[in-house]
Amino acid sequence: MSTLPARRQPAKAPVPAVKLLDCAVCGLQGPPKEMADCAECGAVFHIDLSQQELGRSCGAATFGQACGFSFSCNPCIERYEANAASGGYWRSVVR
Ligand SMILES: [Zn+2]
Ligand SMILES: [Zn+2]
Repeated sequence: MSTLPARRQPAKAPVPAVKLLDCAVCGLQGPPKEMADCAECGAVFHIDLSQQELGRSCGAATFGQACGFSFSCNPCIERYEANAASGGYWRSVVR
């Protein structure tokens, strides 16, 4: 009587639970890969770098006087635009 050695099935690695982050702009949650930090206020917000996966962005990549290229949340972008209109600190949205 021979028994085949029981084949060890590799335990299926559980999909690591993705810790969702709260978006400071719209209040919805999103996985970290869809989020970015605002260089100005530090807010975590949705960003859709591919412009198609999420269909929404709560901020954008910006380029400005200081820090060069970075991310900014929508409220800060609005502030930059208001500042720029009055000749102050500015950053431009990179499109
Ligand atoms: Zn959002
Ligand atoms: Zn901000």
